[in-house]
Amino acid sequence: MNLILVGPPGSGKGTQAKMLIDKYGIPQISTGDILREAVKEGSPLGMKAKALMDKGSLVSDDIVIGIIEDRLGKPDCKGGFILDGFPRTVAQSEALDNILVRMGLKIDHLINIEVDDGELMKRLTGRRTCRQCGQGYHVMFDPPKNEGVCNECNGELYQRDDDKEDTIKSRLKVYHDQTAPVVGHYQAKKLCRTVNGVGKMDEIFKRITDIIDRV
Ligand code: AMP
Repeated sequence: MNLILVGPPGSGKGTQAKMLIDKYGIPQISTGDILREAVKEGSPLGMKAKALMDKGSLVSDDIVIGIIEDRLGKPDCKGGFILDGFPRTVAQSEALDNILVRMGLKIDHLINIEVDDGELMKRLTGRRTCRQCGQGYHVMFDPPKNEGVCNECNGELYQRDDDKEDTIKSRLKVYHDQTAPVVGHYQAKKLCRTVNGVGKMDEIFKRITDIIDRV
């Protein structure tokens, strides 16, 4: 099963992707995670991407298409995959179509998680991450036991540069301008399934799996 998860920043698609991995045993491919890893390593790719990511702009199509082509060729993708955060532009969707044709694969569903901008702003500005182990928290919805300190490893919690208010505003604008049209690309192929992304994580997960498991 080959899935695409689409949703604005803060829609919870990363969390849903992780729950889908556990249920279906297929890997999540997150271009955001791959780029953040490259930034951490200080690789040439990471250095190129960092300034754009910090501003909330998209990295160039060529870079992410190259990352995806490489990643989809790995053996763990043979049984299926979940694309999280890719494609983000219509050009990326078209490139993905071509890559999949070459590989003899197809997308089964694009899951479009919908959440309004006001709710996203609340969610994103409160997000914190552990510097050491990467565990995620939220100052309102999922606070750590001690402020600023990770429950798991006592690491320091920090706010991602791209979760600051101004950056979030530009990420949402980028989403509406560039990524929302991706949904149209898959609607035309009758592969788009829209899910309400407001509610408890488990409820949203059930909405998604009901669609996937429906034969
Ligand atoms: P994410 O964690 O998916 O929100 O991605 C974080 C940042 O990485 C985005 O704001 C972009 O700067 C960059 N990025 C991730 N995926 C893509 C993509 N498919 N196309 C362009 N830029 C991307």
